[in-house]
Amino acid sequence: MTIESFLPPHRTLMGPGPSDVSPRVLQALSRPTIGHLDPLFIQMMDELKLLLKYAFQTENEFTIAVSAPGSAGMEACFTNLIEPGDKVAVCRNGVFGERMRENVVRAGGIAVVIDDAWGAPVSVEKVAAALESDPQIKLLAFVHAETSTGALSNAEALGWLAKQHNVLTIVDAVTSLGGVALKVDEWQLDAVYSGSQKCLSCVPGLSPLTFSPRAIEKIQSRSTPIQSWFLDQSLVLGYWSGEGKRSYHHTAPVNSLYALHEALLLLKTEGLENAWQRHQQMHQLLKVGLEKLGFSFVVEPDYRLPQLNAVYVPEHIDEAQVRATLLQEYNLEIGAGLGDLAGKAWRIGLMGYGARKENVALCLQALQNALSRP
Ligand SMILES: *Cc1c(COP(=O)(O)O)cnc(C)c1O
Repeated sequence: MTIESFLPPHRTLMGPGPSDVSPRVLQALSRPTIGHLDPLFIQMMDELKLLLKYAFQTENEFTIAVSAPGSAGMEACFTNLIEPGDKVAVCRNGVFGERMRENVVRAGGIAVVIDDAWGAPVSVEKVAAALESDPQIKLLAFVHAETSTGALSNAEALGWLAKQHNVLTIVDAVTSLGGVALKVDEWQLDAVYSGSQKCLSCVPGLSPLTFSPRAIEKIQSRSTPIQSWFLDQSLVLGYWSGEGKRSYHHTAPVNSLYALHEALLLLKTEGLENAWQRHQQMHQLLKVGLEKLGFSFVVEPDYRLPQLNAVYVPEHIDEAQVRATLLQEYNLEIGAGLGDLAGKAWRIGLMGYGARKENVALCLQALQNALSRP
């Protein structure tokens, strides 16, 4: 057997992530690798921090990218902020809320689960009731944009509510960052993590992360060490900051960070508000087309994510077969249903560079052709 170089096809990625990566970001990725402590690389990292602060809308000094995918950003928040015995309210309205609960338990915390239906947003009223009835709760964890269902929760109301109760927030912004409004400082959010491969349209494998001064205080006042060495953010901090005296922690994924720098630069050039608006406009276009084809949405219009369109698949359709046809004949990937929605829904992503008219048109045409077959 001869093994040759791997040459992937050009697909159009309209699933729940990874999303289409812009040619400019792919170019940045292929630039020469330099040392991760090279002064020029350190300069690039400093700019990257500024760009991340802009994307998160925060002045938080601790704003970095974890050298691993979104799940690692999630784990970094839970392992750093929870001490054994801490009570944590966890909102669960889809797959990722359940993962948060699992993280709480593994970090030795006590999870107080607040359930909402799949496809519904987190109920602010239920969270308020939970925080009022149990003053022992120290943290509130919720998913801003639930990628498993396409529901958007009110991070602003939840952030303020937590602040009033002196409770710290852990927020999953993996799918929301860059796609819908997210204002970390204004909304009083404390530990917020994201992913590179959703609305930032960068390659997978990095997790933007920001901690508020209140979150840093909680970490610094721990009486037990953080179990994970790699994710201990107090060690990572020495690597991402410290004027001219950076200490080695791990080798940064050098080229991936070039790519993230470029992706965030594209976002900054477009302007955050413009990017949010573009996602909304492309969603409207797709929605009209999908409804013409007879599809109905899983989520009510008020809470619908523009970047993740979950629609029910009519029962007589072999959904896996249609997805296979789209991939083989149109080089188009859409997402299957996850968890409760497996086999029942599709998740059509319009994320970052993928939120474009050409993609909407391709998706609608391909679906129409595939569905009209006998
Ligand atoms: C994709 C996703 C994650 C996990 O990110 P990975 O990069 O796949 O580890 C976490 N939360 C949400 C809401 C996501 O959409």
